[in-house]
Amino acid sequence: MKRRNFLQKAALGSVGITALGSSIAAKASTPNQTKDRQEIPPLNSSLPVVIATWSVEDATQKAWQSLQDGTTALEAVIAGCGVEEANAKGQSVGIGGLPDRDGRVTLDACVMNEKGDYGAVLCMQNIMHPIAVAKMVMEDTPHVIMAGVGAEEFAVSQGFKRENLLTEQSKKDWEIWKKTSRYKPIINIENHDTIGMLAVDKNGTISGGCTTSGLAYKMAGRVGDSAIIGSGLFVDNDIGAATATGLGEEVLKTVGSYLVVELMRQGKSPQEACELAIERIIEKTPNFEDFQVGYIAVNKKGETGAYSIHEGFTITTYQNQKNTISNSSFYNKK
Ligand code: ASP
Repeated sequence: MKRRNFLQKAALGSVGITALGSSIAAKASTPNQTKDRQEIPPLNSSLPVVIATWSVEDATQKAWQSLQDGTTALEAVIAGCGVEEANAKGQSVGIGGLPDRDGRVTLDACVMNEKGDYGAVLCMQNIMHPIAVAKMVMEDTPHVIMAGVGAEEFAVSQGFKRENLLTEQSKKDWEIWKKTSRYKPIINIENHDTIGMLAVDKNGTISGGCTTSGLAYKMAGRVGDSAIIGSGLFVDNDIGAATATGLGEEVLKTVGSYLVVELMRQGKSPQEACELAIERIIEKTPNFEDFQVGYIAVNKKGETGAYSIHEGFTITTYQNQKNTISNSSFYNKK
């Protein structure tokens, strides 16, 4: 099930849907109009908080519960992201992820903790939980990134089991795609569904994780932003954290999550920082109509923000005992 469909279903269910920053969205529809940002209403700043890209209330619920049980923010993020990695119906993360153009499911994931430690796996096959392997790279090796077969062998040496991640549905979809495929990555703004998750515990300790199967039908060996420090994820425990979803090439070129955190360091709110980082992409990339990027951010106080280029980006926030799916505000109002 595509996350957009999931959202439509969730809208009918028990999870509340709100339009985060919709007043801001109306004002921020062109770069020049974003000067009105002072009018942004203050956001909820209660701790703890868990925030994730897309409509993933089971994942945020798991992370929240983990925090309630007294785990670290990092462990909470790994538990939360793990829910989506194990969800075979999600075609963007872990098992069920859409494959590259040659039919291989390759996963990228990273984690970052409050000490600024970072670990990542890139282009890893056959292991359902790359986020947990990324944590082991961070904690149990002298390295920060492992890729491909080496990452897979490391995971197996740590007790992970190899399994086929290409589900029948994803195989079927790939076979349909092959009939009409052009030899370049598909850029479909409804098809960017990386799970980035940020958690701040009750003491203000921040960690984050990001996990993805990357762009559907990418070229073999392609790696996006999601597992690259500063692009798909960045955490600075003195300031806050940010994570990204969407066309990784554009996030990488602007080192997007680092940019969001640095903007917060300069005094911007998480919402303002996400908007400015999206505007940076728009200023540099005339064809922004053709792709989606979304950022989420949280600061040390637990204030949150989210912004995307196009409509359709949703976020899930667990805060004040409430698990809420929100529509992100966005730039392109055409
Ligand atoms: N950011 C991911 C990548 O470029 C894709 C996504 O968010 O769906 O690999």
